[in-house]
Amino acid sequence: MADTNLMPIPGHIDPVPLPRADVVEGVTPRDDGRIDLIGLPRPRIAELFEAAGLDRKQAKLRAKQVFHWLYHRGVTDFAEMTDIAKAMRPWLAERFAVGRPAIVEAQHSVDGTRKWLLQTADGHDYEMVFIPDADRGTLCVSSQVGCTLNCRFCHTGTMRLVRNLTAGEIVGQVMLARDALGEWPNGAASQAPTIVLRADDDEEDEGSYTSDGRLLTNIVMMGMGEPLYNFDNVRDALKLVMDGDGLALSKRRITLSTSGIVPQMAKCGEEIGVNLAVSLHAVTKEVRDEIVPINRKYGIEELLQACADYPGASNARRITFEYVMLKDKNDRDEDARELVRLLKHYKLPAKVNLIPFNPWPGTQYECSTPERIRRFSEIIFEGGISAPVRTPRGRDIDAACGQLKTAAEKKSRAEVDRLFAEKEAALA
Ligand code: SF4
Repeated sequence: MADTNLMPIPGHIDPVPLPRADVVEGVTPRDDGRIDLIGLPRPRIAELFEAAGLDRKQAKLRAKQVFHWLYHRGVTDFAEMTDIAKAMRPWLAERFAVGRPAIVEAQHSVDGTRKWLLQTADGHDYEMVFIPDADRGTLCVSSQVGCTLNCRFCHTGTMRLVRNLTAGEIVGQVMLARDALGEWPNGAASQAPTIVLRADDDEEDEGSYTSDGRLLTNIVMMGMGEPLYNFDNVRDALKLVMDGDGLALSKRRITLSTSGIVPQMAKCGEEIGVNLAVSLHAVTKEVRDEIVPINRKYGIEELLQACADYPGASNARRITFEYVMLKDKNDRDEDARELVRLLKHYKLPAKVNLIPFNPWPGTQYECSTPERIRRFSEIIFEGGISAPVRTPRGRDIDAACGQLKTAAEKKSRAEVDRLFAEKEAALA
């Protein structure tokens, strides 16, 4: 388990502490003195059982059983772990706990999107979003409370970074969503409609999880925060999500979105192996420097070369390039043509997601017109690259892309400008 103490941020430094400082070898202290097992891999659970008094063989066996109950069955009470000796269950409950993030508020959009405002045990708010579609259900997971980066179109970017989420707080979002959707075995999954797989989704490579009858079929690390700035915890959480004895979600169903933290990208492919999405949003240095300021550190060419080198990318597993449509900023015909040229120049197995901008209070941008977005999409399609326009989801509950922001953090335009200026000064 990663040591989350004092992990340095490469690149832009925000003068706010990053990790939860009291986490030691993955164990987050609780007020009641018990150890929360969520977020810990099986070998670490076995170590803790052994440290609590079991002999090594027993500890290993119990860890295997408990792991299965936690991640495969979604059980939160040791008393329900029926293949563990009755006398052992209270022993476990006295020493260990099975946590879930606390829910502060749950909202339902008219389009079926659900958003949860969650709270960490030390009192920080963060959000997760579930987006149901006809053929899949996607959970958008947060990796940090706030964000150090200041992408100018993103509401989360107006928050300061409070801290990295722990592996338990990240995987806890997936578990909470499965609780809410009633998707653990014996839950409501069997009554859910059968989901038809898309053509590029029919190959499961790990675990036993299939989309049949499932509501939650895909995970995107696209919530609050830059996941590659919290790499170890994101990796450890996603390994739990992919573990065949637990949640068993295939890496093909998981996408990690980065604003372009180039030095971490190859590591992400090698150590996690999930699909990659890149927040590109502009094709010229001038515009990308403005709207995705990390571009000043890792430029477009460097970023696209890192994409070309991304382990596992292929025509079957294309890299998604996200492009938010901002009126008179990045939406000209020349921009679309340059995007095609760049993607071809780097021989990228690419698809482009065009995202109509979701305005938020205080923003300086407007969304491109529907005609402009349509033309932009056509030019990319004519260049031989898929460029669907994403339908905004959950706008009525501020759950749409780039809108995640805890209510307590709402700011005026002047405050937003001041915060961006502060963050940019730190980046300079
Ligand atoms: S787009 Fe992502 S990386 Fe950029 S500010 Fe928003 S949350 Fe942070």
